[in-house]
Formats: sequence, structure tokens, C-alpha cells
Amino acid sequence: MVSDLRGKRITVVGLGTFGGAVGAIRYLAAQGARVTVTDLRSANDLSDSLAAIADLPLAAVHLGGHCEPDFVDADLLVVSPAVPKDSPFLQRAAAANVPQTSEMNLFWERNRAPAVCVTGSNGKSTTTALTHAILSAASPRPCHLGGNIGGSLLPQVESIAVDDWVVLELSSFQLVDLGVLKPNPRVAIVTNFTPNHLDRHRGIDEYRAAKQNLLRWQTPEQIAVLNQDDRDVCHWPTAAQSFWFGERDVGRNGLFGCGDAHRRAIFRAGRHEQVIPLGAWLPLPGRHNYLNALAAACAALALGAAPAAIQAGLAGFVALPHRLQLAAECAGRRFYNDSKATTVEAACLALAAFDAPLVLLAGGYDKAADLTELARAIATRNVKAVALMGQTADRLAELVQQFDNARRVAVGRFGSFAETFAWAAGQSAAGDVVLLSPGCASYDWFRNYAARGDEFVQLARAWRAPLAE
Ligand code: ADP
Repeated sequence: MVSDLRGKRITVVGLGTFGGAVGAIRYLAAQGARVTVTDLRSANDLSDSLAAIADLPLAAVHLGGHCEPDFVDADLLVVSPAVPKDSPFLQRAAAANVPQTSEMNLFWERNRAPAVCVTGSNGKSTTTALTHAILSAASPRPCHLGGNIGGSLLPQVESIAVDDWVVLELSSFQLVDLGVLKPNPRVAIVTNFTPNHLDRHRGIDEYRAAKQNLLRWQTPEQIAVLNQDDRDVCHWPTAAQSFWFGERDVGRNGLFGCGDAHRRAIFRAGRHEQVIPLGAWLPLPGRHNYLNALAAACAALALGAAPAAIQAGLAGFVALPHRLQLAAECAGRRFYNDSKATTVEAACLALAAFDAPLVLLAGGYDKAADLTELARAIATRNVKAVALMGQTADRLAELVQQFDNARRVAVGRFGSFAETFAWAAGQSAAGDVVLLSPGCASYDWFRNYAARGDEFVQLARAWRAPLAE
């Protein structure tokens, strides 16, 4: 670990928009380092991050491209996990023996508090936030939230005490970088594992090995919370005490659904057993969120938390933005923003999460994905109307009509988001759910999924039912 950063020439590679680099830059500047920032993207794209470091005395900021001296004439590079490892600039830095680290590695080396870390292919952020909410209710000491979920704990690392908690979401890219530090968190949670990011990892084995870095160096005093129902994760080796979570109880240690309609769950640790009404406490819709809650509550119970703390943590929990987020309630309608659902699988999960009649807003940028299963779900689930957007609207309309022989689902197609929303809301009646869960990316109409979700929330909050009702 480079412990004295004062006066060191440090280049932060990849400013990004998620706050990790901003945290690193603020920390390094506070330590007296001479910080250079570089990113391939333009100042315009990075305006929010630039505003967050505008007060700092930086050595240089090189955006819209990289300059070789920033990489080879430096004492240390702090590289964003989003930068590909085969970047020629990183290779030149390695050839010049310039050491490389990351914001998370800097944090991990300095953090003294026990860590609860979450990884997986899906549900990481939600599980991390749920774990943080429950541990905050369970522990008299502060519980800090960070990692891939956004922001950075690095600037405050020195004020995080040894008996506080940190709850971190870790991506596969962060876990690759952490490997050199042999991380062994107090608790490791793995939500699930499906092929993802294979564009950036060299194959499924490399992607799995990256995720397994979370378990690789754990010891028997530590805890691993693993998905019993995941065909891959259920075989992952660990030296830690294993607690499992899943929908069926087969007698292992962990937290399992009891198989009843009320989604009760049974926790087991050796001879100790207790049943908690987890489903009744969880304010999020969807089976996938119940699984995320099983993982989070399992970790807390394995650490000795009382069920009352789980209830208290969940009672105040608010869905993360753009993930089945209850945006507004008006005239008996509930408006849910699930803009993060940019894949067919994610939109199908959202459709399955509701028993109420649905009016769906779907479609968007065409990334050549097969939309058949989304159309099938629209035609066969409780969707009464679907408002289609973007490049995939025509294709989706055609597919929905193929499955919906009885023409049960009203289909609308519009040229703008405001028109799409107005029609969808107009199709709804009291008791319905109006759901934005596009199953497609947003780039044809919006900068990103967050901009799409924000507009939905704004429109939903301003919407009023027709006077005639
Ligand atoms: P991540 O951080 O891994 O991207 P999030 O918690 O942000 O996960 O959820 C993103 C989307 O992934 C959700 O909107 C939902 O569609 C899907 N998802 C969430 N949890 C699960 C899960 N346990 N299994 C499968 N899909 C999930």
C-alpha cells in the first residue's frame, strides 16, 4: 500500500458519472497528492462529476482523450473499473512500472470496519440497500453504504470506526482489482450468477472467477450467504460458514421460504430455528425482491440480528430509483418506475410482480434482442393495455398481436414519451398499476435509463384523473 500520498503524482483514469472517481479525487487531493484526471469522454458528458471536483486544486484535467505522460510519468494510477484492462495506455504504464490501483482498493486497504459485501449478476444494488437498511436498524453503531451502488466511502474512510459496519456492493470488475488484496469480508453475499458482461470478461470462467474473489480468501470465522437455488452458485467453494437462502427449506443453515402464500421464512443456525413473516414486512413487489430480501435478512440473522430489527429495517425501506419504484399514487392508480428493466428478462419479472391489472409502457432502443418472451408475457399476463415506444415499438406490436388472438390487449404507439404516458394513464382505471418496464434500453429517446425513469416519475406525480371519474 502506498501509505504517504503527499506530493505523489497520481493520475485518476476514468472520471465517470457514478461518483467513485470523484470520491478518489477528493480523498487524494485531501492527502496532498498532485492529482491529474483523465477520461476519454468529453467535459460535456462529465459535467456533473466535474462540478463535484471544481473546488479542488488539481494538477491537470485531460478529457476527450488520454495523454501518454499522464500514464508513464506518474507515481500511481487510480483506474476506474470501467476502463478495459487491455487499454494501450494502461499497458504503457505497466511497461513503465507505474503501479495501478482503484478507488475500491484504496478504500479496502484503509478501512478498519467489518465489511458485508454483496455481489452477483442481478439484484446487487437492491440486496446491498436492503442489507444496509436492516443492519442500520440492528446495530447501535453507524452502518455505511458504498461500492458499486454509487458514491464513494473513501473520503470518509478515516472517520469510519473499527466497530462500525460497511456494506459494499462489488461488481465483477471491482472484484478483479481487489484480488491483489486477497479480500476476506466478514460477510460475503452472492445473489445469483448468470452470463453477464461477457463482452468485457474473456468468458464465463473468468467472470465466475472474478465473482468468486469475494469468497476465495474467507476463513471459517467469516460468513458466506449463498443462493441455494442458483445452479452455479450452489457449487461455489468457500471456507467460510455457509448460510443459504432460497425458496425451499431442505434443512440447511440459512433462511428459506416456507412455501406458503404469506411468504413466511424459516431461519436455521444449527439447532436454532425461527420463523419470520418476511414477505409481510417487505414493502417491495416481486418474487425477485423477496429473494433479495431473503439474502439480506439471512446475512443479518447470521450476524445475530433480532427479527425486530429486520422488521424495522424493512418498514422504512424505499425502493431504489428505477427498480419497481412506486413513483406516485393517484385516483386509485399506482405508478411504478422500473426504467432499469432494459432487458426482456427484467421486464418479465416486473410483469410477474403484480396481481392488479396493468397498463405497461414498453419498448425503446433496438439492441437486436429477441423480444418474443416479452410479447408473450404482455399477451398472457394481466396487461390490459400497452403503450409502445421507440425503435422496437413496431416489432413489439406485431409480436403482441401474434400471441393475443382475442385482441384483449389495447396497443398504442406514439412518437414521444409525453404522448405515450398520457395515453397509458388514460387507459388505466382505479385499482390498476401503470408500469414503466421497457425491456429495452433508452438511447433512442433518452440519455440513459435514469433520464427516462425521471421523466416518468415527473409525469406520474403531475397526473390527475379525468374529472368525469
Ligand atoms: P444490479 O445491481 O445487480 O444491477 P438491481 O438491484 O439494481 O441489480 O436490480 C436491477 C434489475 O435486476 C431489477 O430491476 C430487476 O429487473 C432485476 N433483478 C433484481 N433482483 C433480481 C434477482 N434476485 N434475480 C433476478 N433479477 C433481479
